[in-house]
Amino acid sequence: MDYKKYIKIVEDWPKKGVKFKDITPLMDNGVAFKSAVDEIVEFAREKEIDIVVGPEARGFIIGCPVSYALGIGFAPVRKEGKLPREVIKVDYGLEYGSNVLTIHKDAIKPGQRVLITDDLLATGGTIEATIQLVEELGGIVVGCAFLIELSYLDGLSKLDGYDVLSLMSY
Ligand code: AMP
Repeated sequence: MDYKKYIKIVEDWPKKGVKFKDITPLMDNGVAFKSAVDEIVEFAREKEIDIVVGPEARGFIIGCPVSYALGIGFAPVRKEGKLPREVIKVDYGLEYGSNVLTIHKDAIKPGQRVLITDDLLATGGTIEATIQLVEELGGIVVGCAFLIELSYLDGLSKLDGYDVLSLMSY
């Protein structure tokens, strides 16, 4: 499917120089959204995944329907101060700003096979930090799936050795 027609590009948002890829028109369209989720589910199906992990907030939008379709759990990765129980955390930089991400200490059991989802791969800082959290808990990252990859920012170079799916590239 040509998903790009459902992506709106917003120039200079949230700050000058950023071409923000708005995925809400894709989410708005039931056929396109289902097709995108189904492609990620197919990518994941052969990998015997135990749990899906996604960073807030758009990683949830992609990851939760995938985990539901596979009949497995979903573990949220959130900004500092949002998760109520004991967490581990990591600092990371992103295309516009910097951040701390956290995950509940008991979210992943050692040896669990993990799919990580997010809406978009830009510099790769977010996914790299998420991988770090999963691996620190003993999880095995068997795939990373995105709707969009910004190839001009070369986030893929941070994912050497990982199995990556992106449905669109800019
Ligand atoms: P990065 O850590 O640089 O790979 O950035 C990825 C995260 O930031 C994703 O969770 C995206 O939601 C968000 N993001 C970064 N750049 C953009 C962009 N140009 N358009 C939309 N979202 C973006």
